[in-house]
Amino acid sequence: EAKENVRGRFAPSPSGRMHLGNVCAALLSWLSVRSQQGDWVLRIEDLDPRRSRREYAKWIQSDLQWLGLDWDEEPVWQSERTSIYEAKLDQLQRQNLIYPCFCSRADLHSASAPHGTDGELLYSGRCRNLSEEQRLAQAKIRRPALRISVNKAPISFTDGLQRQIIQHLDQTCGDFIVRRSDGVFAYQLAVVVDDGLMGMTEVVRGLDLLSSTPRQLYLYRCLGLPEPKFYHIPLLMNVQGQRLSKRDQALDLGELRRRWSAPELIGKLAWLLGLRESEEAIEAKALIHDFDWAKVKREPIFVPETLFIRSYKIG
Ligand code: GLU
Repeated sequence: EAKENVRGRFAPSPSGRMHLGNVCAALLSWLSVRSQQGDWVLRIEDLDPRRSRREYAKWIQSDLQWLGLDWDEEPVWQSERTSIYEAKLDQLQRQNLIYPCFCSRADLHSASAPHGTDGELLYSGRCRNLSEEQRLAQAKIRRPALRISVNKAPISFTDGLQRQIIQHLDQTCGDFIVRRSDGVFAYQLAVVVDDGLMGMTEVVRGLDLLSSTPRQLYLYRCLGLPEPKFYHIPLLMNVQGQRLSKRDQALDLGELRRRWSAPELIGKLAWLLGLRESEEAIEAKALIHDFDWAKVKREPIFVPETLFIRSYKIG
């Protein structure tokens, strides 16, 4: 039977140790792919040289091994793929979709800057219609970012875990940045080029990225790349109902590895995510055979304090 080759990925940014949210995304992505005999690949999203550290990328690989989440193929490093992003940017440029934007941070974040329907900044399109003369004059003052023009057509998709999503890019974010003024390619462009060219059939990640997905689908369509299926997993909350963040140090895997064995941690997460009725210890691979997205929780997940309570320094 000629079944499409299932491919999934984990795409961490090496700006710190993995935290519980990353572990949930990695675990669910891995289980989904492994339960369909697919390939799972690791892509290190180290595009931003100021925020990325090689050392964290090593830790992430060590943490995945500790968790029992094995990957296929050599890890892919975004920092080595600049020429690929250049080529795709050229493709967009040939479609007349790209223009330079000279707005400063202060311009963009001014008190009068409009906000879109999701509460994000909505780019006004100020630099879209600059004349060639104005562009040349501006270019003497500062290096531009590059933006892609969006249009009024709604972008809709059906997420594997959430409701159907419809977004109007022109009312949500406006023309968005594909390359920053410091020359670094934007996450939105790189992630689409990579997932598209790497043949990803499914993308599993946190709900915080849901509002980026319509921008990414727009890029898939402009570039003619095959679109994956998306699963946006619920956010982790503390019992007070605040989103757990990287700042909760005890949530980083360094701390969690000192506290629990891998099967203990996987057991607790499998229970929190809705995969099992009890939090009894279990290895990741023992969850493959009866993995089913239908069991996975769709609402915010409250993490009990016993799992992430800070450790107190003694002495
Ligand atoms: N690198 C992104 C992050 O760590 C995730 C990208 C994605 O899964 O699309 O937040």
